[in-house]
Amino acid sequence: MSNPPSGAALDAFLGRLRTTLPADALLTDSAARTAHAHDAAPFSEPGMPAAVALPRTAEEVQQILRAAYACEVPVVPQGARTGLAGAANAVDGCLVLSTVRMDRVLSVDPANRLVRCEPGVITKDLDAAVAAYGLTYPPDPASWERCTIGGNIATGAGGICCVKYGVTADYVLGLDLVLPDGRRTRTGRDTAKGVAGYDLTRLVVGSEGTLAVVVGATLALRPARPPALSLLAQFPSLTAAGDAVAAVTAAGHLPSALELLDRATTRAVADYGHPLLKSGSAATLIVESDAAAPERELREMERLCREAGADHVVAAATPEESRQVIEARRLVSPALGAYAATLGGSPTAFIEDVAVPRSELPKFVGAIEEIAARHRLRIFTLGHAGDGNLHPTVVFDASDADEHRRARIAYDDIMAAGLALGGTTTGEHGIGTLKRDWLTRELDPVALELQRGLKRLFDPKNLLNPGKVVEA
Ligand SMILES: Cc1cc2nc3c(=O)[nH]c(=O)nc-3n(C[C@H](O)[C@H](O)[C@H](O)COP(=O)(O)OP(=O)(O)OC[C@H]3O[C@@H](n4cnc5c(N)ncnc54)[C@H](O)[C@@H]3O)c2cc1C
Repeated sequence: MSNPPSGAALDAFLGRLRTTLPADALLTDSAARTAHAHDAAPFSEPGMPAAVALPRTAEEVQQILRAAYACEVPVVPQGARTGLAGAANAVDGCLVLSTVRMDRVLSVDPANRLVRCEPGVITKDLDAAVAAYGLTYPPDPASWERCTIGGNIATGAGGICCVKYGVTADYVLGLDLVLPDGRRTRTGRDTAKGVAGYDLTRLVVGSEGTLAVVVGATLALRPARPPALSLLAQFPSLTAAGDAVAAVTAAGHLPSALELLDRATTRAVADYGHPLLKSGSAATLIVESDAAAPERELREMERLCREAGADHVVAAATPEESRQVIEARRLVSPALGAYAATLGGSPTAFIEDVAVPRSELPKFVGAIEEIAARHRLRIFTLGHAGDGNLHPTVVFDASDADEHRRARIAYDDIMAAGLALGGTTTGEHGIGTLKRDWLTRELDPVALELQRGLKRLFDPKNLLNPGKVVEA
């Protein structure tokens, strides 16, 4: 971790920024600094930034980074701060560099099926902008109404339809970057194919703002998705639900959503009033097809769910019924919120993000249930079953010191269980500060040294988002 800059260094730095940036692009008041100190991660202990910069252009980002490099002031890039790993948390005395005002869609190119945009564009707005051309940008993190493309690129975000369409990394063709010393470079290509040199684009995707600031992106698009139909299948055991996931995959189907709710989550959503879910099942699968003939694929997947043991299946025949089925997934957040409100004290939720091989899902959910019982906690497990990527969510009263302590231990125990099953500690949320120690357990020493070497190559003074992902 880098040390906070000296008072003299900060004065020189801020003085330089005041002469180069528009007045409204630099905030130093305590309300702005506090508001930008952290992202949405639990258990995070953010520092306090010295100032917040809100540049509108790549040239302003360059000026900021040149000055920071000269004065040796750490800089933390930020998007919408919806991150769940503490990767956008401030460090003491840093400058928070928020790219939210760089929010233009620069051009849509239907012939080459790509879009060029700035990093502050909200993900949902990007999809809406390309929809006018009969195209779509598929990655759909649940936070897509708030999060930014820059944040998605930096975290390598996933989402519900990624089981069929792939994750953010699969759509980033090229990047416009500013390096920690202020130099600007373009990586990647505008072509559908291209293998010239090392793939720096892919390296920066998922680098959590530690290597460079993204100031522009060229993203691949796909034709708009056809209307989808969905089904909801409830199972008497987790193993039966796991068998259904395996059968759907083995039969060669490509569902556009394959989501799992465990017993506790199923109950919470049913109690919240979802009309199609019945309480008491061990697991629920929500399956969606946007194939050319979705009725046929849905019927096939329904048969596979029943053969695996589903004892309650609702298959939508119309888009409206489909909407009701998908609503079961959308209601998880409010349903858990309603449960949290019954706890009193200071209800808090942490959302884990562990991925295991699909075949290990039942064992993983079983391990989570055991962890919940051992630590006397309520853990609601939901997630992208088709990707083996689950989000066990512990809802606890943070004002109860003992419960807070048990929740923190459970967070680690869930990651240990995932790794023991051949999984990874993060499927899509990233390492940030929360999982830095776990990265050293997941990677071998040689891989870790290569990662540290890359950080030193891009950022020899360790000024860009220091202390995140790997120590330089
Ligand atoms: C309710 C909820 C649901 C969520 N659902 C999902 C989900 O389904 N899938 C998923 O993957 N994530 C999900 N997330 C997590 C989060 O939304 C994603 O990680 C998202 O990509 C973060 O984007 P952001 O704009 O908020 O970035 P921030 O949180 O501000 O930053 C995230 C990281 O990106 C870096 N960064 C931001 N902008 C830039 C830039 N221009 N240049 C370089 N680095 C930059 C930051 O330094 C930080 O490391 C969810 C979060 C919430 C709160």
